[in-house]
Amino acid sequence: MQIYLDTAATTPLDTKVITLMKKSLEKDYGNPSSLHKKGREAKELLEKSRKIIAKTINANSEEIYFMSSGTEANNLAIQGILKAGKKKEIIISAIEHASIKNLCEELEKEDFTIHKIPVDKQGFVQIKELKKRFNEKTALVSIMYANNETGILQNVAEIGNLCAQKNIPFHTDAVQAYKKIPIDIKKIKVTSLTLSAHKIYGPKGIAALYLRKNIDCKPIIFGGGQERSLRSGTENLPAILGFAKAAQLSYPVKQIQQKKEYLIKNLKEIPNLKINTPQESVCNIINFSVEGVDGETLVEYLSEQGIYVSTGSACSSGSVEPSYVLKALGLSDKQARSSIRISLAKDTTKQDLDKTIKHLKYLISILRKL
Ligand code: PLP
Repeated sequence: MQIYLDTAATTPLDTKVITLMKKSLEKDYGNPSSLHKKGREAKELLEKSRKIIAKTINANSEEIYFMSSGTEANNLAIQGILKAGKKKEIIISAIEHASIKNLCEELEKEDFTIHKIPVDKQGFVQIKELKKRFNEKTALVSIMYANNETGILQNVAEIGNLCAQKNIPFHTDAVQAYKKIPIDIKKIKVTSLTLSAHKIYGPKGIAALYLRKNIDCKPIIFGGGQERSLRSGTENLPAILGFAKAAQLSYPVKQIQQKKEYLIKNLKEIPNLKINTPQESVCNIINFSVEGVDGETLVEYLSEQGIYVSTGSACSSGSVEPSYVLKALGLSDKQARSSIRISLAKDTTKQDLDKTIKHLKYLISILRKL
């Protein structure tokens, strides 16, 4: 039996998404830009999907643009907004996903200045520091909704208000927050927001950028002018349909939250184990450090038992450097290297968690003796 506890890295496809996509792969081969019937049918499905995604965040469908990944959506939001203006300073948090952090580090090699706002011990962006960085040269602020390693939820509404008061564009990466908490873009003053399908039981390689009406954002990919010229390239209709289907599926937040609390209660029984996820976090992610144990070794041993978890984020796994996110929280290199991320699935059972806890306790006691 396999126990998949790595949904923050990616989710399997929901069976309803598989059924729909199988059909679509056979029949929806038309190009939405073609003028004939097959093209018009494809265009209709494309626009229907856009409407569905828009509705899930209370946006208008003209504000949704399909992208090839969350990574691309983040890249476009930041580079596109910078290209549309002349300002050269960007404010991000110290714990952004690599698709924002690494992009900003590249921009820094050009003539942009990046301000990384520190987070407190729990991982909350320090609002006082953020306010200090606002100035007339600020081009945009990008602060993630939910962090992929610890699951912490930032106070996006407050940050949005601060940016709006200063008339500064505010982008938020909502890849890990989507479906885990209600997102209503009429209530949060974001100018752009990223969603990705493969974290919500949809297909990989499809995502969406919400871009508020009248926000000037220039394309970074040029071609046939699809997605109202913001993102050229023939649309991947079966994936888009799969994304829209996944977006419509119910997500049992309450049940997952209860499982998370059960898991935390049991983890706390293990001596010298530090929970790195605060209360204000998405329902599926728990990050913890186990003193005296190497996280990668633990992941490998658990994998041999058919239990799949992660160290930090999947994107940074395999790198020798300890997680910059955990270090930003004040963890030492050693503590960061001893960290594990468990991310629960919609169908994770109490039995799955009991088995995981049993193996964790056993392996930790063995590894600590070695
Ligand atoms: N942002 C966050 C917070 C993520 O967790 C991820 C994926 O791990 C991404 C962006 C990138 O999304 P994608 O895998 O669709 O490129």
